[in-house]
Amino acid sequence: MTDRYASFVQSGAGRALVKRLGLPDPPRLRRYAVGDPLLPGPVLLGAATGGRLGDQVAALLTAAGVDVRTGTGTAPPAAGHDDSAAADGPAGRDERAGNGGAPAGSGTPARFGALVYDATGITDSTGLRQLYDFFHPQARSVLPSGRVIVLGTPPGECGPAREATAQRALEGLTRSIGKEFGRGVTAQLVYVTPDGDAGTATSLAATLRFLLSGRSAYVSGQVVRVGTGPAAVPADWDRPLAGQVVLVTGAARGIGAAVARVLARDGAQVVALDVPAAGDALAAVANEIGGTAVQLDLTGADAPTRLADHLADRHGRVDVVVHNAGITRDRTLGRMDADRWDAVLDVNLSSQERINDVLLERGLIPEGGRLVAVSSIAGIAGNRGQTNYATSKAGVIGLVDALAPALAGRGISVNAVAPGFIETRLTARIPLVIREAGRRMNSLAQGGLPVDVAETIGWLAWPASAAVSGNVVRVCGQSLLGA
Ligand code: NAD
Repeated sequence: MTDRYASFVQSGAGRALVKRLGLPDPPRLRRYAVGDPLLPGPVLLGAATGGRLGDQVAALLTAAGVDVRTGTGTAPPAAGHDDSAAADGPAGRDERAGNGGAPAGSGTPARFGALVYDATGITDSTGLRQLYDFFHPQARSVLPSGRVIVLGTPPGECGPAREATAQRALEGLTRSIGKEFGRGVTAQLVYVTPDGDAGTATSLAATLRFLLSGRSAYVSGQVVRVGTGPAAVPADWDRPLAGQVVLVTGAARGIGAAVARVLARDGAQVVALDVPAAGDALAAVANEIGGTAVQLDLTGADAPTRLADHLADRHGRVDVVVHNAGITRDRTLGRMDADRWDAVLDVNLSSQERINDVLLERGLIPEGGRLVAVSSIAGIAGNRGQTNYATSKAGVIGLVDALAPALAGRGISVNAVAPGFIETRLTARIPLVIREAGRRMNSLAQGGLPVDVAETIGWLAWPASAAVSGNVVRVCGQSLLGA
């Protein structure tokens, strides 16, 4: 479905009119294409005094081909912390905040593809001033569709209460920047465990590559936690799913078809599943991406065993399961018959549980395997006329909360994405006025595309992301609903 208003605004004449009338101004978002550089400009990397991640991040960004400039804000270095080491670190440059993207003495304001700030050194609320000192001079320096990323320590893993308080405060900054900077700039907070292993470093690299790139075009205002796990560095970051067997349910159309395409592009062998009635469309998707098609109604009593048999016979395993299939049967609660309730809960939640149980019991998901489920912002915010749907989608979040710690010992990660307004057949059916409101009520003033959800699922499916678990990542352009 096309967003005619956005197309109009993005034309020269439209932009001028919209500015004059103060109407929503949806920017053209930077989306990923194979071979794209990670960013349209250099990264300005700053660190609070005593931060533990700055050098590591400089090294991994440089390895990703990013031009890294370092700046320390205005805070003086603490005893024993050598800022000059960070400045001279792997990036090998010493550009101070404020002159990063421009030649020294040129007088041209610096422009950055991203601002990345290591806030792990902030141990009490007075230290939060360092955020202001770093970001205030850079508020206009980020290029369109640029990125702001703050790195912190999960509050629950901080020792002193004051440190936990300060680290929790970071969320207010990133969420506000996401609403403030405009022009397609997104802002995220990444909490990195202080008790990391090799997997933590790999998953931090994967997470930064996702968040900085055009793959995360419609993700903003999110908090991502990187923990520990058997994350594996890919041989080629442009094919991060090479050799992986991935099941995608509901793959005949919409978001599921986009997921199948993106995961195949990233190197996966895709098993695309949908109901027999969607067999032709499913076959077309599977053929297009060189995958295989499985026609199966997930709610059938024997569906889990038939699916497990198929995966065992054909592939001997399944590395990633993407639970995408979903339905809506909307009615306000008083008018909803029991069949509508049952159908939605069964497809969207119970069938996922039954399939997970059988695949796990039969050991078909190996160590390092990943489960990715599709929730919805309706599961976070609730929605009039969708008690059944919102219940099922909140249940998906509950499933992530419960299964992620339960499967950590087996090295299996469990995450969900929660799409907001995505331009699909589902949202095309919404009455015009409500549809326009849904589209614009987010920081990016537009709906997302199926590919935006697919790219986010793709990142969570990478073997390199195995230390990212227990997250629900909204793909909603920082929707005001449930914010
Ligand atoms: P869609 O209706 O276009 O596609 C869903 C697919 O799931 C269809 O191909 C359908 O045949 C399949 N499916 C349904 N029941 C099935 C069953 N019993 N067994 C096997 N396959 C079955 O929907 P979409 O918009 O692409 O949504 C995909 C997912 O994203 C759903 O879980 C949906 O709830 C979620 N979501 C969508 C949006 C949005 O804006 N479109 C927003 C939030 C969440």
